[in-house]
Amino acid sequence: MSSKLFIFNTISRKKEEFIPLNPPFVGIYVCGPTVYGDPHLGHARPAITFDVLFRYLQYSKYKVRYVRNITDVGHLENDSDYGEDKIEKKARLEQLEPMEVVQYYSDRYHDFMAQLNVKKPSIEPRASGHIIEQMQLIEEIEKNGFAYTVNGSVYFDVEAYSKKYHYGKLSGRVLEDLYSNTRNLDGQDEKRNPFDFALWKKALPEHIMRWQSKWSVGFPGWHLECSAMSTKYLGDVFDIHGGGMDLIFPHHECEIAQSVAAHGKETVRYWMHNNMITINGQKMGKSLGNFITLEQLFTGEHVVLTKAYNPMTIRFFILQAHYRSTLDFSNEALLAAEKGFDRMLEAYNNINNIKPSENSTVNISEIRNKCVDALNDDLSTPIVISCLFDVVKTINGAIAGNEKFDKQNIDDCKKLFDDFAFEILGLTHETNITNNNKILSEVVNLLLNERLLAKQRKDFEASDRIRNQLTSLGIEIKDTKDSFEWKLKKQ
Ligand code: ZN
Repeated sequence: MSSKLFIFNTISRKKEEFIPLNPPFVGIYVCGPTVYGDPHLGHARPAITFDVLFRYLQYSKYKVRYVRNITDVGHLENDSDYGEDKIEKKARLEQLEPMEVVQYYSDRYHDFMAQLNVKKPSIEPRASGHIIEQMQLIEEIEKNGFAYTVNGSVYFDVEAYSKKYHYGKLSGRVLEDLYSNTRNLDGQDEKRNPFDFALWKKALPEHIMRWQSKWSVGFPGWHLECSAMSTKYLGDVFDIHGGGMDLIFPHHECEIAQSVAAHGKETVRYWMHNNMITINGQKMGKSLGNFITLEQLFTGEHVVLTKAYNPMTIRFFILQAHYRSTLDFSNEALLAAEKGFDRMLEAYNNINNIKPSENSTVNISEIRNKCVDALNDDLSTPIVISCLFDVVKTINGAIAGNEKFDKQNIDDCKKLFDDFAFEILGLTHETNITNNNKILSEVVNLLLNERLLAKQRKDFEASDRIRNQLTSLGIEIKDTKDSFEWKLKKQ
């Protein structure tokens, strides 16, 4: 590597050189999904962002332990400390066991992540499988005087914590502001202060997911699982904690408070957060009618989409923006990304068609260094992509006879795409459905034109044969005056 990796640390608000605690080992913890609904666009961005980090560190020869959790208990509606558990609510509406909901949506999540070519994490712990660890953590926090119990529920005492430590250091929130901004609407609030948060909740009679504890029969608070599971698998202090920016407050702020309250020190060395996705300039939300699931994106069945998009188009589109920038989705932007990605793949396939010259007008190793520098500069994937497009231009130039590649540069060029586009950015070229569709439609057109010619020379036997065979393959053909139309029969 020609330069050192710098990443933007949310807590110091600046780019810092990344120096692992115990090289070559690197520990990463990323907050995964709460599995109560179909995976959507909002799930794709953090998964892809931290997948690139995982891939790049592995490419750089680090031994990475990547932990990404599944939240299957304790995440209540509106991210609040009161109300119904998101998973239990879904289970009630669908008349299922909560764990059936968890299984179904975890499977769906894994399925869609695989389509986006997101690597599996090294460990994928579930909150419900770590209740004992969470109870132990509460006991530590209690012992150190930062928790209080009311009616069988345990709350984190933010005020007591603030006397000794800095609550708000990640999000930049100030306790006095929180005090005036978070007046509780619920008159029955058990908390001493509205900004306190639940570590353990006593289960209401209708609550299904419940465990016996010394405080009550209940369940852990949402923030607790990540403090417990990250340190269980990565140690008391570990390298990187990631997630979406929407998790900075309260989730990650509370995680820091819990870990510091329990262990007396911070557990995370670098905090990384990806920015949010908007759709046509608007926040994505169910009430706004612009909520897009990954299935809808891949099938095109949504009012804002004119067609189905290949998962690789989505991945490419997400990586065209820096992970700390907002990213606006629109049908037009996706069409442009699809075109760009196709152009890149076409050039990649054309590398084999370049005739080697004695000398070279290009220097691929220079571009390789630029790609490394870009990734080392806080994972600047847009710059990597623009470097690759510079190469696309020269490949096309070489095919047109305006640029020259010697043998070495041809090999280096192929390796450049293999390393950066495919291995590190995680794009794939084998499963390019867009290309396959293009070939399919050209072959069908070819056959139907043959059939047209057969009809014109009154060879109805041949014309019928082509028609019947295509129909049996699931292609619907409609004859027009002088031509034809066709489409794939819906499965
Ligand atoms: Zn978390």
